Amino acid sequence: MITSDALAARLVGLADIGVRADGVCRLAWSEEDAATRAWFEEQAGGAGLRVARDPAGNLWACPEADPPWWGIGSHLDSVRGGGRFDGPLGVACGFAIADGVPRPVAVLSFADEEGARFNTPTFGSKALSGRLDLPGVLDRPDDAGVRLGDAMREAGVDPDGIGEAPPWLGRLSGFIEIHIDQTTELAGASEPVGVVTSLAARTRLQAHLYGRADHAGTTPRSERRDALSAAARLIVAAEEIARAHPTLTVTTSRIIAQPNAPTTIAAEVRLWIDARAPSFAAIDAWRSHLDERLRELEACSGVEIDVSVASRSDAREFSPELRRKLIRATEDVLGHAAPELVCFAGHDAGVLAERVPAAMLLVRNPTGISHSPAETVELEDAAIAAQVVARAVEAT
Ligand SMILES: [Zn+2]
Repeated sequence: MITSDALAARLVGLADIGVRADGVCRLAWSEEDAATRAWFEEQAGGAGLRVARDPAGNLWACPEADPPWWGIGSHLDSVRGGGRFDGPLGVACGFAIADGVPRPVAVLSFADEEGARFNTPTFGSKALSGRLDLPGVLDRPDDAGVRLGDAMREAGVDPDGIGEAPPWLGRLSGFIEIHIDQTTELAGASEPVGVVTSLAARTRLQAHLYGRADHAGTTPRSERRDALSAAARLIVAAEEIARAHPTLTVTTSRIIAQPNAPTTIAAEVRLWIDARAPSFAAIDAWRSHLDERLRELEACSGVEIDVSVASRSDAREFSPELRRKLIRATEDVLGHAAPELVCFAGHDAGVLAERVPAAMLLVRNPTGISHSPAETVELEDAAIAAQVVARAVEAT
């Protein structure tokens, strides 16, 4: 039986990789990312699996048996200042399951799930599903001006070969991801695990505001074209409009102002707004209302505002048959059926669900906090999740 101690022993090997006072930082294609690959290889060796890296940089720990296999896994990259369990918990559970079940199971770690460096969330699973915007995406720069394609090459993956990734998906008969709950939903229900019915639809907008740099003291109000002040009003408008849609969440998550100097009116601002809902209907209604407000804001501020879609992913339902198997397995392990829930985060399993039977099991997070060092999980709950998935895989 998979125990919490066994999972703790697996995870301890990641404890020194990219862990800082302000949280975990393992950005895609970085040195820390490479260090997690060494951990993955060690885990695979211990479970008798051989490691392969597909043309998109996803890591596969493969059994000796001929494919197709069941795939279990998650990701090892993180956001800046992230938690210890978002991603690695699912990979560690994957190795524990592959090591214990009699069926051949492959463990996967997807490249650049978080998209924190190049704004390319679920990069690896999208590449595997043939859904990347190639070659355009490879030109995206990080904050230091490094192109994604160059960062990949530096990390040992030839970006020209990404188009060869999709046939690898034929090796999987299905995929299951274990992940920490990023809400208090399971904690509030006093349930250790929950089965995800679907992932919410998501749109990430990038707004570029063009004002004019000028003296903060000598420029009369009537002559100002203040990009930062317009950005503030845009952020508030995005939230106000969202209130009309109860299931919609809107977050302005990132802002860059230039020249960002104490005595200069901001000339240029870039900001990113993330909108999620169970379907695109609410998001699109919000967006068209926001566009109206933008035109008014441009007229009164003298700031030009361009808004483009940085990324967009449709709502994704998971395999009803796999969900039934997971629910049945929770009845065996817990003595009752686990709750089902809609997940508002993007995940690799959701991307793969378009091409192969896929499912997700969430593990209770006592604080509900994620993408923060305050993120936490009880490994006893994670062990239950791993036992449930092991049973479901054995039942397929
Ligand atoms: Zn994650």
